[in-house]
This record gives sequence, C-alpha cells and structure tokens, in this order.
Amino acid sequence: MKRHIKELPLEELQAWLEKEGEPPYRLKQIQGWAYRKCAPSFYAMTNLSKGLREALDDAFYLYSLVEVGREMALDGTTKFLFEARDGERVESVLIPDRQRLTLCISTQVGCRMGCRFCLTGQEGFRRNLTRGEILDQVTLVRRAVMTQGRDLTNVVLMGMGEPLDNYTETISALKVLISTEGLGFSHRRVTLSTVGLIPQMRRLSSEGLDVTMAVSLNATDNETRSALMPINLLYPLEDLMSTLREYPLPPRKRFTLEYVVLKGINHRKDDAVRLAKLIQGLRVKINLIPFNPFQGSPFQRPSEREVLEFQACLRQRGISTFIRESRGYEISAACGLLRWRSRSKPGLMRF
Ligand code: SAH
Ligand code: SF4
Repeated sequence: MKRHIKELPLEELQAWLEKEGEPPYRLKQIQGWAYRKCAPSFYAMTNLSKGLREALDDAFYLYSLVEVGREMALDGTTKFLFEARDGERVESVLIPDRQRLTLCISTQVGCRMGCRFCLTGQEGFRRNLTRGEILDQVTLVRRAVMTQGRDLTNVVLMGMGEPLDNYTETISALKVLISTEGLGFSHRRVTLSTVGLIPQMRRLSSEGLDVTMAVSLNATDNETRSALMPINLLYPLEDLMSTLREYPLPPRKRFTLEYVVLKGINHRKDDAVRLAKLIQGLRVKINLIPFNPFQGSPFQRPSEREVLEFQACLRQRGISTFIRESRGYEISAACGLLRWRSRSKPGLMRF
C-alpha cells in the first residue's frame, strides 16, 4: 500500500533509497523538496533522476491533504479548507500581521474537550490527525505563500483540536517543524496551546522541544473553570499551576496564558486578584481574547471598555497583559469558530 512519505520514519526512507541503489545524500534532497521548497509532486524534484521520481511516486504520496477551499477576510486573514483521504475536512488560518505571517493549524478533526465557549468543542470529535496531515497544512500553505515571494514566519497549534490529546502525532510533527532538515522553524516561532492536560504537559517537558507553551486558563476559580471547561474537573487549577511551576522553562522564556473574556463571567476585580495570586512566582504573560460568539452559544462578547478595564486591573498588579483580537471573524476563522466537516458525498478522490 502507498504510504505518505512524511509519515515514514527516516530510517525506513533511508533503507528504501538504499534498496533503490541511491546514495545517502538523496534523503536530504528529498527532505529539502518536501519541507522547504514544498514541491507540488515528486515529479517536480528536478535534481533527482526520472527513474527515482517515478519510483517515489509509485511507492509514496507526497501529500495526504488536498486544498478544497480558501476564503479571505477583509483584513487579509485567509482560511484554508483541506480534505483528507477519508473525506474528513480540517481548517487552517493564515494571519498576516505587519512583517509576520502566522499559520494557525489543527491537530484533530473536532475536539473531545467540550469547552462550552468553543464551537469546535461543542461539535464533538471525529478523529486525530496524523503527523503527515499536521505537516501538510504547513507545507501546502507555505507553498501558497512562497508563490507570492513570502514565507511563513510563525506556526501556532491553536486551530481545531487539543494538541496534547493527540500527543504522539503532534510531537512527531513538531520535531520535523523545528528541525533544520525539516521545515526549519526556530522553536521561538512555534507555539503549542493546550487546555491543560497535566500528564502530557509533564511528558512534553522531558522531550527537550522547547517550543513556546500557551495554556488556556480562562477562569481564576475552579467552580467557574469547571463550568466552562469540563477538563478542569480532572485537572484543577492548583494542579495546573503547580505543573507550570515545575516545568523546566528555558531562561528568558515565559508561558502564555490565554484568557477568553466572557461578558459578566470572568473579568471582575476579584478575578484579577485571584489571577495575580495564581501566577505568583511564574514567568507568564496573559493574552486576553474577547469571546467570539457563535449561534447557540450561551455567552456574550464583552465590550471593548470591559476588556480594557480588566487589562488595566491586571497591569496594575504588575501582570503583563495583552489583548489579542481574533482575526477573520466574518469568515468564521477567529479563535474557537473552526469546525470539522466531511465530504458530503462519497466520490472519486481527485489525488
Ligand atoms: N485546544 C487548544 C488549542 C486550540 S483553541 C486550547 O484550548 O488551548 C485556541 C484558543 O482559542 C484557546 O485559548 C481557546 O480558549 C480559545 N477559544 C476557544 N473558543 C473561543 C471563542 N469562542 N472565542 C475566543 N476564543 C476562543
Ligand atoms: Fe478543544 Fe481548545 Fe476548543 Fe477546548 S478550546 S474545546 S480544548 S479546541
């Protein structure tokens, strides 16, 4: 059976090349084409012999996702819709911001965590993405931006799904993202956002991966947090904060705490006081994300003034706090609005 080349362990690809009578340096050439030049097909790998290109095409797929839709918002934010071989669809969002070009990618089709303020979470879970499907989102969008003479600067795992609930595939994709033979991103430019799965966070700390960690906090007491995020019943706030305290954070790095501001729910003065206490002794910055409403959601978006007041309240306590406006609301590309779909009619695959 044909396999996705991005899912093959390097030793296996090396052994396959050797069997084909190819010298060892071919591996690096193929990686360069697949991850940095983002070749559209094996046939475009022009410094490989025609015979090898044919053999590669017979044995492997270069992509297992195909782009089936693209929408651009007025602010330039672009949502890509990709379809997997089994017809499941996922979305990735490209966010231009001055010199930056950030890609927000998905790690699962749907999400099992069920956070009440998140449309992805409300719509349930279909399946994990494979390492190849996670990497395909980056290589396919990278190819699209390269045709315009640009390159991606940052990758954030903040799309659909909980990255640490798909631990093995996510970590192995991250390794390729930050390796020089792979996509070559600096670990400073890659951010993983988690709902706070403690055992996986502990495991991640021993991987030596060093990417930026963002944790979705969203509340300052267990009662509110559990009502918003069922996972808090399993991993309550005090355990989450002590996990962060024990996390071997590299010097000069800090955690990001994401905080969705829900009108009338989690932005009182009491919250600021409790938040200051929770993060005592931790190097963190807080990103306030005003809630993005969706149909049927029981919450409301706070006014700009309310968000600014909460920010001021936190800043008064010496907490470095930023407001992160989600981009691309009108095309449903903003935080928490991504949704899985599947191909409606089974049909012939076009690739
Ligand atoms: N599952 C991971 C990463 C994806 S969610 C996590 O929860 O961290 C990315 C961010 O979007 C999280 O910080 C989440 O709290 C936020 N978010 C989810 N739904 C939102 C909504 N409706 N409005 C604003 N932010 C939302
Ligand atoms: Fe899943 Fe994150 Fe949405 Fe929660 S906020 S349901 S963890 S995607």
